[in-house]
Amino acid sequence: MTQTTRLGVNDLKTQITLEKVFGIRIGLHYSWFLIALLIVLSLSRDFRASHPQWGSSLILTLAISTAVLFFVSLLLHELSHSLVARTRGLPVREITLFALGGVSQIEGEADSAKTEFWMALVGPLTSVLIGSLALERLRSLVGGTLSPLTTVLAWLGYINLGLAAFNMVPGYPLDGGRILRAIIWWKTGVLDRATRTAAKVGQAVGAAFTTTGVVEYFGGGLGGMWIAFIGWFFLQVAGVSYIEVGLRRRCKASASAM
Ligand SMILES: [Zn+2]
Repeated sequence: MTQTTRLGVNDLKTQITLEKVFGIRIGLHYSWFLIALLIVLSLSRDFRASHPQWGSSLILTLAISTAVLFFVSLLLHELSHSLVARTRGLPVREITLFALGGVSQIEGEADSAKTEFWMALVGPLTSVLIGSLALERLRSLVGGTLSPLTTVLAWLGYINLGLAAFNMVPGYPLDGGRILRAIIWWKTGVLDRATRTAAKVGQAVGAAFTTTGVVEYFGGGLGGMWIAFIGWFFLQVAGVSYIEVGLRRRCKASASAM
């Protein structure tokens, strides 16, 4: 996910700064701790169910290592967005990990559809690369019984491919939404129109997620609450970017009327 300062919410401030990588500040939002805990708990449960012979400390160590590797993968995904942005002359404020993933906070707006396209596409491409490398390594190891290493590799491989596929959904603020925006921008030459369309699709995706989540929750699936929350977040961000295009247009209109 990428976030430019003119588009969308900007209140996602880093609360705990970790490190600077390539001069880019990496930080955690408080909500990240919630998702980190949930991931470790759910991985421990899955590992225990699939490998009842493993001891508790091995399961906990594996769950924590897998979660750390997952967040490293997520950071590499965000870092790829940020590095492309920077090579195209857009300063990167910071990368923040939060409850729903990662955000690259990029100052300003891409100056061309091509920049926007590559800046968005590089994230899912990075996730595909990490996922494929993990699965390739897994294939070279599989032969006997499933070991702790092959279990971690399988999980990392599939989660990264899943991350890439999910981010390619063509609704803003997902990468797919920005790719759609870049393509419409390139075809029509009108950025505002492209943003509106990507935001509208984003709102539709958000509404679909929220509805599915609520239906699943009332059907007894606790995970539904999470899906509904993600949907609600998309609705907010897509809604804000839609409104901001309107505000910019109104500002321009009033300026020219003076
Ligand atoms: Zn992304």
